[in-house]
Amino acid sequence: MPVTGLPPYDDQNIFARILRGEIPSKKVYEDDWALAFHDIAPQAPIHILVIPKGPYCSFADFSALASPDEIAGFMRAVGKIARDLELEAPGYRILANMGQHGGQEVPHFHVHLFGGRPLGRMIPTA
Ligand code: 5GP
Repeated sequence: MPVTGLPPYDDQNIFARILRGEIPSKKVYEDDWALAFHDIAPQAPIHILVIPKGPYCSFADFSALASPDEIAGFMRAVGKIARDLELEAPGYRILANMGQHGGQEVPHFHVHLFGGRPLGRMIPTA
């Protein structure tokens, strides 16, 4: 159940279907808590999406409702993926869009992991 009056989780969203293996993805990593795959429209040389395995629409309900094990497992997976890709020394960016103002398009919580070049300002000013 989502929080704060948000719509219920839609188990037909594209990332739910990727999780179930109904549509393909270029998988980077998977464990008990997370699945990571390349973004279909990369915005940096490395652009990976990391999603939790549970049915969370966004950061709002993941942060409010996921268990400590789910949250810890997910965050550790994000860090491990960046480490395995040798992004720690050059640096990288993680980002989660939430809701309309956040520009979230897919209603399954996900973290974008960007790297492979200097990424510039956090939010473009133009
Ligand atoms: P959001 O705007 O929700 O934070 O980001 C959704 C991301 O999902 C976008 O960067 C978009 O390119 C990516 N995306 C949308 N559909 C697919 C898909 O079918 N496969 C993959 N790998 N990425 C997708």
